[in-house]
Amino acid sequence: MNIVLESTITCPECGGKSRAKMPTDACQWFYDCPHCGARLRPKPGDCCVFCSWGDVPCPPVQKQRGCC
Ligand SMILES: [Zn+2]
Repeated sequence: MNIVLESTITCPECGGKSRAKMPTDACQWFYDCPHCGARLRPKPGDCCVFCSWGDVPCPPVQKQRGCC
């Protein structure tokens, strides 16, 4: 099965989209929007910014290992 390592993050503040590489074995809790500078954090219940704001979930979730 293919693991997607790049995600398109949509900023909830400005709506700007940006491509970001995801780490394969760790979760990323912060992401600075390159458009407006907002610091994105995961929504409650989500493990990382990619699961909350990206178009694909993070690699550990894709592997159905659950996250961190
Ligand atoms: Zn933004």
